[in-house]
Amino acid sequence: MRGDATPHVRGRFAPTPSGRMHLGNAFSALMAWLSSRSAGGEMVMRVEDLDPRAQSRERAELLMHDLEWLGLTWDEGPYYQSERAELYGAALEELSARGLTYPCFCSRAELHAATAPHASDGAPIYPGTCRKLSADEVARRSATRPPAVRLRVPDEGDPAGTIEFSDLAFGARREVLARECGDFLVRRSDGVVAYQLAVVVDDALMGINQVVRGCDLLGSCARQIYLGRLLGYETPAYGHVPLLVAPDGRRLSKREKDLDLGALRERGARPERIVGALAAAAGLCDPGTDITPNELVALFAWDKIAAHRDSIVVDDAFLARLV
Ligand code: GLU
Repeated sequence: MRGDATPHVRGRFAPTPSGRMHLGNAFSALMAWLSSRSAGGEMVMRVEDLDPRAQSRERAELLMHDLEWLGLTWDEGPYYQSERAELYGAALEELSARGLTYPCFCSRAELHAATAPHASDGAPIYPGTCRKLSADEVARRSATRPPAVRLRVPDEGDPAGTIEFSDLAFGARREVLARECGDFLVRRSDGVVAYQLAVVVDDALMGINQVVRGCDLLGSCARQIYLGRLLGYETPAYGHVPLLVAPDGRRLSKREKDLDLGALRERGARPERIVGALAAAAGLCDPGTDITPNELVALFAWDKIAAHRDSIVVDDAFLARLV
């Protein structure tokens, strides 16, 4: 039973509509839904269509249809990030007014060419090139190239830059921002707010207190917690779930069209079969079980996910169970 001190769980789906729903996205969505529903919680639908070049409303609708077809429902939304630019702008302005940001003129090529070390996600750790530009220099460079905006992170010895948190599957984590990513982008040079900032603003304004997603985003968590602290937000609980990978270890990508839900549906796959295969990979039921998300609610537990947190290999045996 829920005690007074336990907040009502509010989780979310946060798909990026850059392609059809993929098995990997379906797995993360199923885990997010089960985690919330097994605690009697709610789900919010937020379409992460920040980048106007890569996304479309039609794709977002297909993604939502695929989730519904699997039996994954939500109580609120859809919200569209493309309609919330003012909210992100206000947060950015607040950070900038406090002197926490600075314009950055480095191009992607320059950043990758620098010999700076790379963070665990492969992105270069920003060496601070534009940190100390004078106002004159900023004005001069802005005339020819619109700057991106970076958030200043505390220097390595400053305890404010060490972020500790406990992940529902991965346990205790500790990251030093200066070592993990350095000053990070909060707005791109084309004016689009960075994912890191939008996600933090949205999770807070939507009252999300549990974030469940693929473990490719585990490395973003410290940045998001830090941003949330600066903006005075409560930190949500985080749970990162394993990724689905091809037998050679490569991450399944949206390019592998034969594994998107559109293709699987065309081949006659049924939702209970797909849900069963995904749930079995997380240790929630036996392989070969046909099951609905509702039937899985009672079987869900984070310690089972924690025991199955290695990548899930989508091999021929796995595929044979889908259709
Ligand atoms: N939109 C992101 C994705 O589809 C997920 C962001 C998040 O869950 O924080 O990968």
